[in-house]
Amino acid sequence: MPDEPNYNLDSPVLGLTGVGPTTERKLQQLGIYCIGDLLFHLPVRYQNRTQSTRIGQLQEGREALIEGLIDSKNISYGGRRNLTCRLSDTSGTAQLRFFHFSKQQFDALKPGYKLQCFGTPRKRKNNFEFIHPEYKIGTAFSVFPKVETLTPVYPLTEGMHQRKISGLISAAFNLLDNSKLESIELLPTSIRESFKLTNIIDSLRVIHSPPRKATSDIDQFILPHLRRLAFEELLTQKIYLNQERKNNSRWHAYRFPYTDLKEDFFGQLSFSLTSDQLKVVSEIERDLNHVTPMNRLLQGDVGSGKTVIAGSICASVVGNGYKAALMAPTELLAEQHHKTLSTWFNPLKIDTLLLTGKLNSAEKKAIYKKINSDRPLILVGTHALFQKQAKFKKLGLIIIDEQHRFGVEQREALLNKSRSGNLHAHQLLMTATPIPRTLAMTAYSQLDISTLRHLPKGRKRVATHVIADTRRDEIVRRIGDVFRGGGQIYWVCPLIEESKKLEKEAAKSIADKLSEVLPEMNVGLIHGKLSEQEKHDVMESFVNSRINLLVATTVIEVGVDVPDATLIVIENAEHLGLSQLHQLRGRVGRGDKEANCILLYQNPLSEIAKERLEIIRSTNDGFKIAELDLKLRGPGEFLGKRQSGIIQFKIANLMRDSHLIPEVNDAASQLRDLPEPTKELLFNRWMMIPHLKSLSQKSNETD
Ligand code: ADP
Ligand code: MG
Repeated sequence: MPDEPNYNLDSPVLGLTGVGPTTERKLQQLGIYCIGDLLFHLPVRYQNRTQSTRIGQLQEGREALIEGLIDSKNISYGGRRNLTCRLSDTSGTAQLRFFHFSKQQFDALKPGYKLQCFGTPRKRKNNFEFIHPEYKIGTAFSVFPKVETLTPVYPLTEGMHQRKISGLISAAFNLLDNSKLESIELLPTSIRESFKLTNIIDSLRVIHSPPRKATSDIDQFILPHLRRLAFEELLTQKIYLNQERKNNSRWHAYRFPYTDLKEDFFGQLSFSLTSDQLKVVSEIERDLNHVTPMNRLLQGDVGSGKTVIAGSICASVVGNGYKAALMAPTELLAEQHHKTLSTWFNPLKIDTLLLTGKLNSAEKKAIYKKINSDRPLILVGTHALFQKQAKFKKLGLIIIDEQHRFGVEQREALLNKSRSGNLHAHQLLMTATPIPRTLAMTAYSQLDISTLRHLPKGRKRVATHVIADTRRDEIVRRIGDVFRGGGQIYWVCPLIEESKKLEKEAAKSIADKLSEVLPEMNVGLIHGKLSEQEKHDVMESFVNSRINLLVATTVIEVGVDVPDATLIVIENAEHLGLSQLHQLRGRVGRGDKEANCILLYQNPLSEIAKERLEIIRSTNDGFKIAELDLKLRGPGEFLGKRQSGIIQFKIANLMRDSHLIPEVNDAASQLRDLPEPTKELLFNRWMMIPHLKSLSQKSNETD
């Protein structure tokens, strides 16, 4: 057809069938701007809908497709308004439950009609129940069409549905003619042959729509295709790092030799540093006394005492007449750091300032003025540190806490602030999520790494208990005891559904129940639907003990210090990653009191889930946990999931794929002369963060 639009990889998604401005915005949140991006929006896992399960054979927690006749439906108002619908086949009866529903939806559920439903059954009394499952209604005699292959599950954003995104992805494959599709292949044939890489178009097709024969063993089937993409991603990373190293070699840094202020700093501390901390401080001091800019990562478990290290090196820099900046991902954390550093530096007559988005414009102006002066000082802040109006003079050191919470471009923006001539600041990144050794030696080779291996002496281990969630009553009693003993409690209910709204409802209903049974306590609630300001206010009330029990989704992860928090209860612990559980557990036991962590799970637990919870119960060593965490996941589970770390990988997993590294390095050196435009395309494919992508998109528009 002559007037059929001619689609390219970089044709915008707006205008595809079903994509108006609202959908366009949602796709952008997922990093999808053009048709080519759709092809690289990869599934996180697969669902098996090829066979239906008889109701009598359902297993708790195992996803299933069932079919049956509608028996009855009912709207009840006890507690939360909800709609239930009973469904049976010849083997048994199950129930569907909805908290959000329309009248239309209610009317369509006609007793005697057939219904097909897909979801995860949960045991409730003697029956199985599906909460908010997907379903189709037929007539009394319908036969539902059979699904022949595995169904990919894509990362979503609020208001975007699986069916919509898979529809768009297959549309993208169909709209691009062969020559356009072929241009996706960026690796030369010679490289593909010598490293036995599949063709990328084949691999993408298989990953998006696995053929029927893959149903019995998807992991094995998909592995070569994953390897192809992971190889390309690692290769791109390597090419990028090689280029960065070349660019960086032209930057120099100020030298900061020994000063008396450092002695004064140590003199006023109420504790002495551990030998681990002293070793790290001397590693950093050596870097600071050098004209090559420091680019160092400090990794140390929660509570290992990274802040005092940050303080001591600030002393070296300020003692030499320069400024040091410490950036943290949240206002509360920035405030805590500011408070800590002020107690250390006020007696030494050194200014410590706090710059966050909350300040009014007069306060901000006063700070901008000070940081643009010659005076040495310490500045603590959030993202506000690299806003346009902030201009620095003599910024000699940048420290970034919880670095994985910042994007590369945000760290770069702050570093930019320190630049003058060919000089820029030394950089220290801090993280509590340790990087496994295999990884440290490979992809992170552009960074020097310091490690705090041991916690300060006298720190009490958080005792961890793994308990079935049928024993809630006991736990509620325990909470009462902790409260009467003057302690504070976290109750974490993590996201299991893919919706912030449902997550909020779950958290809210727990909070309501707990305040009902423990009326003497002040129960607070924090979840992802609150604004930054609201979250901050709730956290602050908890820090100041106005709230005794804080019910939270996983938004509390980051390093906030509440010394009286001595108990944390984590629900559905079997659904969380080990490192994440360890981080959450690190929220308690930060004072000198005994602390406990209770991991609640739902029965039945798979063998692997048991093993994982046992690891958390029996060890408090974050390094060991991180290694085991990566080992215990299967390839299918890793598909396309983003991991936190300095470098965000889309698909590569350094535990699974680390054996590729020597080959990747080899390929990178063979590709020294890769044409610039091809390099750009690779960077754009694998390294762009949605935010940057929108910037580059905008500049294209104005060209
Ligand atoms: P993190 O590494 O998680 O950021 P912090 O820096 O917040 O840990 O330190 C946790 C607690 O340990 C703080 O209260 C800090 O004052 C204390 N601390 C740090 N170093 C030592 C030490 N050498 N001896 C005793 N307490 C210490
Ligand atoms: Mg910290």
